[in-house]
This record gives sequence, structure tokens and C-alpha cells, in this order.
Amino acid sequence: MSARAAAVGAVIEAGRTASIRHWVPATSGNFSVRIDAETVAITRSGVDKGDLKPADILIQPLEQPLLPGSSAEAELHTALYRKHPAIGAIFHVHSPAATVFSRLAVSTDSLTLTGWELQKALSGVKTHEAIVDVPVFANDQDIGALSRRVDARLSRAVDGAISAPGYLLAGHGLYAWGASPAEAARHLEALETLFEFELSYRRFTP
Ligand SMILES: [Zn+2]
Repeated sequence: MSARAAAVGAVIEAGRTASIRHWVPATSGNFSVRIDAETVAITRSGVDKGDLKPADILIQPLEQPLLPGSSAEAELHTALYRKHPAIGAIFHVHSPAATVFSRLAVSTDSLTLTGWELQKALSGVKTHEAIVDVPVFANDQDIGALSRRVDARLSRAVDGAISAPGYLLAGHGLYAWGASPAEAARHLEALETLFEFELSYRRFTP
């Protein structure tokens, strides 16, 4: 199978998995997988992510303007791929726990996770005692401006913390990535579940 066909197949599979879990309601979310150093496969705007066809996937060159039919948020994907050659897949969902949890952080610019065994599912996290920093950005319809804020924040590590392979947009959803589609899917599932844990835990703790 060609790298292009494999990437398109991985995007379709990621959309189907997210849809089954109700993470992409009403055509929301977008999914991309790197084909090579210069090109990614990415979902077009406005399609049902649970029933993607190959024609719903655009083959986007990273150094060229967004193709007709692109999602407005595609720029958040292409900017990350250009900056980080090790990223192989980026999945974005409007999942319930991430979207609700993100609103608890608007006045700061990050949320931290610690004390959870499951955080070891995140690349580079070796112990439940690690502090995992999850950047949070105010939502913005100006995707260019948002993309520049994301780029600046992700370049700045937080002292004593490990950066999560993802970030939250307040009241909007979660972006997660990995070196491969399988790793991005693991990170997405781990983060959404950790946010569920945090929401439950905070109900019972001051
Ligand atoms: Zn979105």
C-alpha cells in the first residue's frame, strides 16, 4: 500500500473510532496523518467523521495555501507539522470531558494532571507522580492568530512539568498528536479519560 493510501485509511479509521465514542458530534472535529515530509492527508470541512470516504480526505502540501474545501482549523494542523517533523498524526475532537474541563482554565493558560496511573500512556511520562502540563487557549475564530499563540506557547516548556502531546481550546475541544496514528489515538483516548477522571475528582475535592 502507498504511504498516501495508508494515511487516508488511517484518517478514516480515526474518524470512525472517535464517532463511535461521541467525540465528533454534528460533523465537528478534524483528523490528519502525515504522508511524508511535505504532505498530509486531512479531513475536508463539514463531513460526518464517522462515515468518511476517501473523497472526504484532502492531500494537503504543507508549504502551500489550504486547498478549497479545507476546514478553517486545518491551519492548526499544518503549522504543527511544519514545526515538528516528528509529528505523524494530529486528531482534533469536541469530546465532552475535554470541552467541559477546558473551561475551568480560562484565567490561567494551562491545566495540570498528576497522580493518575493512566498519564503513563502519554509519551515521555514514566510515573503517576509526574506533573503533566496541558496548555489551554481561549477559543478564537481567527485561526491564524490562534495558530501563532499555539506556536509561541508550545515553544515554552513549563518548569518541572512534562508537556502533554496535546492542548485544549476553551469551550471547544482537544487537539492531540503522536509520532504515528496509533500513538495519536492512544494520546487522545488517554487525555479524554484523564479529563473525565479530573472532572469527577474535582466534584469531591475543594
Ligand atoms: Zn474544532
